[in-house]
Amino acid sequence: METITAQVQDCPGNYVAARPSTLRCAKCDRPLDVRDARHTPTGYVCPYYVKSRVATFYNAGLHHYLATALIAVIAGALAGFLLRLVGNIGFFAIILTVFVAPLAGSLIAEAIQRALRIMGKARGQHIWLVAAIGTALGAAAFIVPPIILLLLIGSPAALFALIPALGLVLTISTLVARLRI
Ligand SMILES: [Zn+2]
Repeated sequence: METITAQVQDCPGNYVAARPSTLRCAKCDRPLDVRDARHTPTGYVCPYYVKSRVATFYNAGLHHYLATALIAVIAGALAGFLLRLVGNIGFFAIILTVFVAPLAGSLIAEAIQRALRIMGKARGQHIWLVAAIGTALGAAAFIVPPIILLLLIGSPAALFALIPALGLVLTISTLVARLRI
């Protein structure tokens, strides 16, 4: 009664076991070296099968990455502006930053996810990284210059200028947590 479990597909890449083996890939039926075997719910498979699966799972193209970068830079600039505004209010700046910064990260993640959904349910392995870098660059324009300026003139206010920078770290870590699946 084992007729149905025949070879389902051919894995790309022509995997060849380095040593003789009785184990076989559940998908392409090629002899499979125990050291290369990957365990899946449907049995042991060759590394090429896993690679091809990853390639189909992550379907984002260049335009998805560009859209992500664009949204991240613009939203990052807004977040940077907001964090600096919050950082200027004095005593409650730190408390407010702790609330506002992760919220900004969630909103940016939401905006990017929505855009990718509209563009055809795109998933990308490095979307989170592009989003994080874009947000950091956009926000840095508002957050970094005051710190450098205040440090240069030796003002103790440089310490307070660091609050938005800490907020940005919170924003980006929330963003990454939301986008990294
Ligand atoms: Zn295989």
